[in-house]
Amino acid sequence: MGKYKFFEQVNKNFDKAAAYTKFDKGILNQIKMCNTVYQISFPLRRDDGSVEVIKGWRVEHSHHKMPTKGGIRYSHKVDADETKALAALMSYKCAIVDVPFGGAKGGVKISTRAYSETELERITRRYTFELVKKGFIGPGVDVPAPDYGTGAREMGWILDTYRQMSDDLNAEACVTGKPIPQGGVRGRTEATGRGVYFGIREALDVKNDMAALGLETGVEGKTFCVQGLGNVGYHASKYMTEAGAILIGVSEFEGAIYDPKGINLEALYAFRKETGSIIGFGNSKKLAVNSDIFEQECDIMIPAALESQITGENAAKVKAKIIAEAANGPVTADAHELLKQRGALIIPDTYLNAGGVVVSYFEWLKNIQHVRYGRLNKKFDEGSLMKIVRELEGISGKKYKIDDVRRLTHGADEADLVDSGLEETMITAYNQISEIRDEHNLNDLRTAAFVNAIRKIGTIYEQMGIFP
Ligand code: NAD
Repeated sequence: MGKYKFFEQVNKNFDKAAAYTKFDKGILNQIKMCNTVYQISFPLRRDDGSVEVIKGWRVEHSHHKMPTKGGIRYSHKVDADETKALAALMSYKCAIVDVPFGGAKGGVKISTRAYSETELERITRRYTFELVKKGFIGPGVDVPAPDYGTGAREMGWILDTYRQMSDDLNAEACVTGKPIPQGGVRGRTEATGRGVYFGIREALDVKNDMAALGLETGVEGKTFCVQGLGNVGYHASKYMTEAGAILIGVSEFEGAIYDPKGINLEALYAFRKETGSIIGFGNSKKLAVNSDIFEQECDIMIPAALESQITGENAAKVKAKIIAEAANGPVTADAHELLKQRGALIIPDTYLNAGGVVVSYFEWLKNIQHVRYGRLNKKFDEGSLMKIVRELEGISGKKYKIDDVRRLTHGADEADLVDSGLEETMITAYNQISEIRDEHNLNDLRTAAFVNAIRKIGTIYEQMGIFP
């Protein structure tokens, strides 16, 4: 955990950055505080007939923009402090990537492995019921999404429960990360990992930063390790390896493996599915404990599990030159200082894992517009491109092969548009952050990202005044 609790750590980072902004102390305090914290307890009838009390939270950190937005986490470690910290990170994240939402987060204190699917469904539906009852969910109020321990299945249950209790025309927009037939958007499942890849790619393209680390620019040939092969870790690894990076270490719940010659991600995934474990895969070496992953030699370390993984205790042993925070809060404030002292580049969570909320925003827009992306223009674009191809054929006297015609005249569909919107957002946000870093000579992307968020949120509070 480090010296400070998670929310305190977020606020320490905030305070450090606030010194580079011009806002009144009162405005800064308003930005930092959690606006509303809702704590819930409800009974669950277990499959064996016994009754258990389940505890949950929903925290809306900032109402400067509505609705608020943030995932729901299922983990036995969830508590009020963690949910507050994650909600605050959501506000900053949304501001950094220009998504017009305030931050929120939900948590249910359960270990998903200890419950059957039907028990998880009952928990999810009851939790949603409690949110509806108190006005903590709705397309214009608060819009949950997946996080650690939840996915499209849970989001589908949430929508269905909300629908039973509301005749809202925009009901589909009450939650994002849904299955496609229930109004989900193509590309949401992989969005966070895809965004992590885009963010790392941007960082690796900066000549001066790479020279300072003794690295060439570009993703190709870089070695990396990942902690957590869940939604974010798997997809980040997939896009990194597709771009030519080499996966050499993986840590999961059951242990960790390392192979400097490279680990085939898909083969490992299939192996784990078959055997229930990553241990024993190919020629990999089993590490003594799963946290030993952080001590392995590699260019990039991608923590993609939970917070407070690299702490004051193990930071000095971390060898990676770049720490890419796919998870929320994986590096504690004291570890951050130690890593910076030895010159490591930290790509911060508030920027790097924002791809999920960016594509959630696209999903929410799709739901309130009631039309799939590309539906109105795809055929028109293809027709226009076809006219150009025919013109070119006329001028050159050459007839294109059918496969080439298809490739040249492909109109953008939903997946293409979502992906290009995500890529554009991650590039723009990186440029904003690195400009602020250079403007203040910060040598620290985390502080620069916080400065960017505080500037945007603080300006809104200043302009709108304070409601009496
Ligand atoms: P997930 O539940 O899909 O996967 C997490 C994985 O980490 C699991 O496979 C789990 O077994 C593994 N794990 C847990 N503890 C571990 C440990 N000590 N060592 C090694 N592996 C461990 O969760 P996710 O959605 O991929 O979320 C991971 C992180 O990314 C969280 O911090 C979450 O807040 C953050 N995040 C997720 C999203 C999203 O869209 N899902 C968006 C932004 C940020």
